[in-house]
Amino acid sequence: MTGDHTAGETGEQIRAIFDRARPRGAYHDILQTLAEGVTEVAGFAVAAISVLRRSGDFEVVAVAGDAGARDQLMGNFTPRAEIEAELAQADDWGALRFVPHSRLPEGITPGWVPDLEPVEDDPDAWHPLDLLMAPLRDEHGDVVGLLSVDLPASGRRPDAAQRACLTDYAERSGRALAQALQQRELSEGVRLAAAARQIVRRASAQLDVEGILAHCATEVVTGFQALGMWLQVFDEQGLGPSTLHSRDGTIVDLPRRLKRFAESAARAAWEQHQVAVSAHGRRNPGLLPDDEHREVLDFLGSIGVRSMVLVPLGAGSLCLGSLVLTRGPDAPPWSDIELATAQEMGHDLGRALSNARLLEREKRLAENFRDLAAYRSQLVDTLAHELKTPVTSIVGHLELLVDELLSGEHAETSPAQVSLRAMERGTRRLLGVLDDLLSLARTSDPTTIHVAQPVDLVSVVDRAVDAVGYSARRKSVRIVVETGSSPVMVTGDPDALERCCVNLLGNAVKYSPRDSAVSIVLHERPREIELSISDEGLGISEEDQERLFTEFFRSTNPTALQQPGTGLGLVIVERTVARHGGRIEVDSQLGKGSTFRVILPRP
Ligand code: ADP
Repeated sequence: MTGDHTAGETGEQIRAIFDRARPRGAYHDILQTLAEGVTEVAGFAVAAISVLRRSGDFEVVAVAGDAGARDQLMGNFTPRAEIEAELAQADDWGALRFVPHSRLPEGITPGWVPDLEPVEDDPDAWHPLDLLMAPLRDEHGDVVGLLSVDLPASGRRPDAAQRACLTDYAERSGRALAQALQQRELSEGVRLAAAARQIVRRASAQLDVEGILAHCATEVVTGFQALGMWLQVFDEQGLGPSTLHSRDGTIVDLPRRLKRFAESAARAAWEQHQVAVSAHGRRNPGLLPDDEHREVLDFLGSIGVRSMVLVPLGAGSLCLGSLVLTRGPDAPPWSDIELATAQEMGHDLGRALSNARLLEREKRLAENFRDLAAYRSQLVDTLAHELKTPVTSIVGHLELLVDELLSGEHAETSPAQVSLRAMERGTRRLLGVLDDLLSLARTSDPTTIHVAQPVDLVSVVDRAVDAVGYSARRKSVRIVVETGSSPVMVTGDPDALERCCVNLLGNAVKYSPRDSAVSIVLHERPREIELSISDEGLGISEEDQERLFTEFFRSTNPTALQQPGTGLGLVIVERTVARHGGRIEVDSQLGKGSTFRVILPRP
């Protein structure tokens, strides 16, 4: 206090300052107003307010009075233990603590020393190394910060009036600081929770790692009021994608060395369950050796970054990457709530990353299977093609021989003639197998492109009935067709659908007794068309029905096995129907007969 003020005037002044600081101004404005207030009323040229952080450090958040002091002190962190060591040496002036320069603990130098000539022979003269502080307490008496003053206008250690004024000021400041902190936590909590929710939601919707990177950059940077962010992902090979996104959209490429440093720091941070704040003037958080830590800070300094937070990303015991948030020199320091939210987000983003990675792995596996299936189909296709030409030629020549040698008066049954007929039947079956293999390869190759066109199922059925007509007549099996005369249209491949129809009708005839009936019916429903083929034949046991659509499956029924077949026909039908967006169903009773129903979507 200067001599021009009475105690009453000073009280008024203090109240006015607190009124100015109270309105819902930004947190830093409030603290700045408080710091400046001390310099106005208490007769000290410099005042600083520090806040006690959850980490146990006191951080200088407001400095008033001297630009040089401000530059040197703002943002400085001092461990609580160091402050306590100073306070232990202090004279107890009620709410105030005074440490004369002579008692300053070993190794401690104040953050700022005024440019003042010490006066040696006057015990009441202010010494440049004297410390005057007041712990700031909330309404419960807990320390929330620290008020320090320096450079008295009088050049002397404070008198009783000045001490009373400072005491009053410190008491009010403590409560104001606690309130400002609470308000800030509350509003920050709400803001950050909303931002983090949005970020994680966006990231979780991404199926690949690159997508997560690209999508969360803007939200993270704005949500955390950061200058930029650097997201790095570790993959099986080591370092995965890594980019530094800045607020204005520029992307900075980082030196490889730095990425390595960040990786080992992130792994250590994940193990220790912590987020780490690094900045010039702050202690190395201990995740990296001092020289590497300095190198990272120097690089970031060269692109305008003053402080950063390293957030490890992970799931379970695995550290999957890191997120670095940066701030420039004029930005506020990272608040406890921001750090807690960032840590939480590291877990959520880690989970999103781990899911994306699993999905990527599954996609790769599916692609491998697809390649394998395509290779197998192509192999079968090539082999069947190569075999088909000579077999067709053999069948042709055998038919010619049978026609010439076994017709008319030569139709006897000498052993050579029987062999010739057997050879013809055998090669015809071989041709049938090759045709089935070719159809199977074509329906199963995932890389085949199928062009769909309008198909009339009535004419498909007619052509299929024609195709099996000969075998049906030989067994006196009647084919009853119920299709109506108007076209029934679907979209698809006419040849493939005809092959399905021939297969099902052929089976119905093949596995039916002589003199029975096979019916083929087309039903039109609002959304679907059903083609059903019923017979009065052998029927299929429930056990066999389960495996009907597996490649090369043939019945366990000995009577059915007497009929030639490959066990591929139904597989081809099922795959073709599935490719047309339809399904196949079977109803069968052993000894009674079977009904196969093909259901296709209406166009
Ligand atoms: P294939 O008839 O060439 O053996 P499929 O795939 O067409 O091969 O049929 C597989 C098996 O299903 C047949 O071996 C047969 O035992 C049984 N099957 C198919 N259709 C019928 C049917 N309509 N009646 C009785 N059994 C049938």
